[in-house]
Amino acid sequence: HAKVNGRKQTQFYDASMSRDLARKREIEAELRAAILKDELSIFFQPIVDLKTGRIRTFEALVRWFHPEKGELRPDEFIPVAEDSGLIVTLGNWITAQAAKAAAQWPEEVTLAVNLSPLQIKAPGASLGVLNALREAQLPPERLELEVTESLFLDDSEATELFINELAAKGVRFAMDDFGTGYSSLGYINKYPFSKIKVDRSFVSGPDVSKKTEAIIRAVAEMGAQLDMDIVAEGLEKIEQVKAVREAGCTLGQGYYFSRAVPDYLAAMLLAQERESEDGLRKVG
Ligand code: C2E
Ligand code: MG
Ligand code: MG
Ligand code: MG
Repeated sequence: HAKVNGRKQTQFYDASMSRDLARKREIEAELRAAILKDELSIFFQPIVDLKTGRIRTFEALVRWFHPEKGELRPDEFIPVAEDSGLIVTLGNWITAQAAKAAAQWPEEVTLAVNLSPLQIKAPGASLGVLNALREAQLPPERLELEVTESLFLDDSEATELFINELAAKGVRFAMDDFGTGYSSLGYINKYPFSKIKVDRSFVSGPDVSKKTEAIIRAVAEMGAQLDMDIVAEGLEKIEQVKAVREAGCTLGQGYYFSRAVPDYLAAMLLAQERESEDGLRKVG
């Protein structure tokens, strides 16, 4: 297109770039205030045991309900928070809020929190996590931190210290969006991951094929060998649930089971699960 009428295209491109930048600046300013004004909240999406159908974990996903702009997706404002350094404050707030909710759940249910690479590399990052656990009185074993492959782009000393310090305290780590970034088998070897989350593009993308099925099968096999849970992300249909279970994934997450819900609904899902099991026990 640019070649056909270069000049106009260039102008259009510049204008849209500065519009993006303006929106970024605006979001950045508003994000600072949003934390204080209670516009942010944490939602929870279940991660389900594919054998028993039971909820094993809830993943905390941040939500921003902007009074004028409506709901803003984390994919839009997390990068802004990263650019501006706000991610440290925001990330610590998210971990603290999520840990408080998780402290109310039955003790076998764990909490997963996403951490941005920049948050992990900031000074005092592990303290932020430990403070959140202490304040909520949540045992470290019940927290799992989800990190993406991009964390290892520069395998820095800060990353290594962070993971090793928290792992020594009992916190678990999950490799998120596995398969979308850089080859990370070396990092799976180096760090104590207890879970791999296979990116949803392998499950429900337009490119799902015999080939992607074989990849999931291979990852699941590796998980079994290494005693790691393998989570299939983005399960929307029963056929997908059956396929990934058959391929050897141990856990599943996706709209088929539930979207992310507010904390009171997460607690309700757990209560219902236990009530129906009690009911079965009484009948049986
Ligand atoms: P993620 O950690 O891979 O989270 C999974 C995303 O997939 C969530 O989007 C979730 O709502 C969505 N999802 C779950 N099941 C399905 C499904 O069946 N179909 C489809 N189409 N989508 C599904 P969400 O909440 O918009 O978050 C997007 C990303 O933003 C997350 O990807 C994560 O990287 C980041 N993020 C979200 N919350 C936080 C947070 O508290 N801190 C940080 N640092 N990043 C966060
Ligand atoms: Mg995640
Ligand atoms: Mg993911
Ligand atoms: Mg993702």
